[in-house]
Amino acid sequence: MIRPLEELRAADDLSLAFNPYGLGGRMRPEDAAEFQQRQIADCDLAQCVAAGTRDSFERLRTVFAYGVLCYDVYTMVGDQALLIYEQALRDRFMEWCAGTVTFRLPQASDVSYTVTSYDDVKKRADRMTRQRAKLVVADQAIEFNGMLHGLRLWARTAGLLRGRRSRAVEDALAKLRNYVAHPSGHHVDTPVGAARTVRDLAELINQLWGQATPDGRLYPAPLRREIVVLSWNGSGRTRMEPASALAVPDPVEDQESDDEYQHVVVRAIPFIPGSRWNDAHWAEFDSRYETTRFPTEYLWGPGTREEARAWLEQERPDGDSVDFTDRVFLVQDHGRLLPPMRPAVAAGLPDDERAGVWHAVRADFPDDAFAHVRGSGDRSAGHTRRPGDCPACSAEFLGSGTYDEAHRAAAVALGPIRAVQLPSVRLPSSTFWPNRP
Ligand SMILES: [Zn+2]
Repeated sequence: MIRPLEELRAADDLSLAFNPYGLGGRMRPEDAAEFQQRQIADCDLAQCVAAGTRDSFERLRTVFAYGVLCYDVYTMVGDQALLIYEQALRDRFMEWCAGTVTFRLPQASDVSYTVTSYDDVKKRADRMTRQRAKLVVADQAIEFNGMLHGLRLWARTAGLLRGRRSRAVEDALAKLRNYVAHPSGHHVDTPVGAARTVRDLAELINQLWGQATPDGRLYPAPLRREIVVLSWNGSGRTRMEPASALAVPDPVEDQESDDEYQHVVVRAIPFIPGSRWNDAHWAEFDSRYETTRFPTEYLWGPGTREEARAWLEQERPDGDSVDFTDRVFLVQDHGRLLPPMRPAVAAGLPDDERAGVWHAVRADFPDDAFAHVRGSGDRSAGHTRRPGDCPACSAEFLGSGTYDEAHRAAAVALGPIRAVQLPSVRLPSSTFWPNRP
């Protein structure tokens, strides 16, 4: 069937049905064209990204705009994005190896080969895999057959990709990529799904070339922490204020009620209305356990508002930035499962508080580490019980056993751990972590 130009230019009814409020009302074609392009307008690639990957990505963005005319474009964009995912890994591999790949043969010395294209790499990797040789990546040697699976392992081993939750998304992308390369049926992507895939792809490419994404979903740039004052009173009320709120002495009426409040000064993600990074568990703060979702550093307290003000005036602490991904936690199981602890805090515990079984887990959030340990008690839940990435959740299991064994597993991941001893300070109310000694 040959369609006239006019029909090709007409907006696709299905595309117009997608609007900011989901499926339902119908958008004007002009509005739909603008709305859809806006969804991916800000995902730019870093300057240093390889030209081939960059060209493919820009073409993808151009084609996305035509989804308004033809709904099928969204499915094609999603599929193409997954192929660019592999192209980006190959391009980055070529830059990383700088023309030489080294393999380690069983019981033999390492051998290096010159490569000028990824095709060379693939042929060589294929041959070496049959000889059971492994690719040398820094101080490790990995299985590498040149396919997507090997490229993903290489990128993680070379430290180019980070984060535990992002690894789960990489898994999902790889499954989709294999599905696209070997389709077994018909699938249709929506504008929402296609836009998300394009955005994820932009984050992944930028991270491969060393650029974290400010406010990113997968590979976020470090978050800004500010000096914050947490306070609570006897009737269970809790407050979070910026340190600057204490700079000006309060009017008398406030001072009366403030006398009942206890204050601690911490370095924490400040509350910003509407921010996706607000810490939903800030009121769970505990200097000994990782009960807030983002790292919260104890600085001073508890004490009165006046004392907190004096301390801030004297010390004038600054904010900083933290990368919350790939943190290492220790989880103690002693009759019951206790909240995750920082290895440095655990290292400062007296001997009589080191009883029970300890688990070392790497995760982006303490609740992820806790969920893995709790889940691994049930064999049917599919959590790994051996060191490595967990197939059932976004944690990496590092090891478990006595306190010393778990500490050693954590030290392998982190390097030497310096013990810190903190006063035990916590806000009294707890919804998420009620089980604490
Ligand atoms: Zn798990």
